Amino acid sequence: MRVSFHPDYHIGLPSPHPFPMGKYALLYAHLLRAGLVDPACVEEPIEAPLAMLSRVHASDYLDRCARGELSAKEIRVLGLPWSARLWRRSRLAVYGTYLAACNALKDSISANLAGGTHHAFADHGEGFCVLNDVAVTIRELQSRQAITRALIVDLDVHQGNGTAAIFAEDNSVFTLSIHGARNYPAVKARSSLDVNLPDGTADVPYLAALEDALTQAIQQAAADIVFYIAGVDVVVGDRYGRLGLTVDGLRQRDAYVIKAIRSAGLPLVIVLGGGYSPSTLQTAQLHAIVFEEAVASIIKHPEHFASHRSFYRGVF
Ligand SMILES: [Zn+2]
Repeated sequence: MRVSFHPDYHIGLPSPHPFPMGKYALLYAHLLRAGLVDPACVEEPIEAPLAMLSRVHASDYLDRCARGELSAKEIRVLGLPWSARLWRRSRLAVYGTYLAACNALKDSISANLAGGTHHAFADHGEGFCVLNDVAVTIRELQSRQAITRALIVDLDVHQGNGTAAIFAEDNSVFTLSIHGARNYPAVKARSSLDVNLPDGTADVPYLAALEDALTQAIQQAAADIVFYIAGVDVVVGDRYGRLGLTVDGLRQRDAYVIKAIRSAGLPLVIVLGGGYSPSTLQTAQLHAIVFEEAVASIIKHPEHFASHRSFYRGVF
């Protein structure tokens, strides 16, 4: 499986900071060490060009980001100290998701070892999200006529409010968000399908809700590609999550999504989303599970991962 990764996904943050920035390098090292990713299959993104970002984001917002002129209030809402390196890493992560999507269209599955920044709106960032990598990627692929329709399966414990708002009036993109009802954001946007779960939801009801919602979403979306935001903040003990999944429940969740999407014959792009375990290492280990399940699925069901040239329209 080809994956996108750049060492500059990591930037230094003042300590202590609630965002576990160290997870990117830890995850990358773990995947290589465990043999889940072949170094020859790692692709390094460039910074997403402004023309690509402007397919989603307001030019005024992009200009002010580029000049480092966000207001103190905007930076507070974002939750990360502004820096040129943050701007660069945000653009690298967007292009990483774009690369992964191109690879998924060719290979049936691919991943970005970052991304899923679903709280970024067209004209502002919030909740640690500067740019909306999945939204920009979808718009770029549509503009290149590489795809027509897309499905976003957002299983981060927080609602994908930025993504929902960006595609609110766009019937070509189906947004599914399964999240904690009482989690951030306090005011939810409207996705194509929202599933609000009560505090403490455990494995069995979670997986039942997932099966119902994903079956419906796959049918209604009629998508050419699926983006899976595989946030691990659904696991019990997460600092920001309020749900009660076990680690095994998370593994079942990831395995189920991969199987459902691939048995439907759809190209699958995996992006990380959030995770706030007690330690950064634990967060990275939880993020590794979706890769473990992807590799296991490729071995177990090779027929689901036969090269997918039928989706590749030869436009990149
Ligand atoms: Zn989250």
